[in-house]
Amino acid sequence: MIVGVTGGIASGKSTVARAFASLGIPWVDADDVAREVVEPGEPALAEIAERFGARVLDADGRLNRRALREIVFADPQERRWLESVTHPRIRERLMAHLERLQAGEAPYGLLVSPLLFESGQRELVARALVIDVPEAVQIARTAARDDVDEAQARAIVAAQLPRAERLARADDVLDNGGSEAEMRRRVAELDRRYRELATQPATPNTRGAP
Ligand code: ADP
Repeated sequence: MIVGVTGGIASGKSTVARAFASLGIPWVDADDVAREVVEPGEPALAEIAERFGARVLDADGRLNRRALREIVFADPQERRWLESVTHPRIRERLMAHLERLQAGEAPYGLLVSPLLFESGQRELVARALVIDVPEAVQIARTAARDDVDEAQARAIVAAQLPRAERLARADDVLDNGGSEAEMRRRVAELDRRYRELATQPATPNTRGAP
């Protein structure tokens, strides 16, 4: 069984994944794979360079992520184009990673992805766990962690999937608005449930059947 872990910026996805890892649960990080598909020599990088030119490349031919982010942040059409180039390739590689994970010994595994719902990755996992924090907490944690001020953090949050929409698509929700100790307790509870679920054969939904 693979559980998808998602949430907005600085909701605590990586922190939660590390808490699961300390209980022996492996994870694949979609951000790592997203970086892999635009490494030098990858077809996606060639397509991006062809469309946007040298301004999105560093002197050594690597992708200048900040320059690309600025272009697509300002232009939704270019953002959609970029996603059409990268998302299918990310998804394909994730599938290979997840197959390896499922062939291993762990009772279940995680796919940690900021774009689980937005990128077609939801269908790669059995359940979706949403890490949820109030927006004010999210903005404060983003500003504290990243090199951005509060207004920039607020703009990033506003550009992401709205909190209510993410929650509506969740199978499970982990409230990460409290302390790290509380978060770890909630992770331990979820871990017990997931271990139980992972041992049950997948059954079709038979509610209402005779
Ligand atoms: P994401 O991976 O979703 O972007 P992170 O796991 O990096 O988020 O967490 C964002 C920031 O918030 C990090 O600096 C992390 O240490 C901090 N953080 C996460 N969970 C908590 C918590 N329960 N209490 C306090 N700080 C937290």
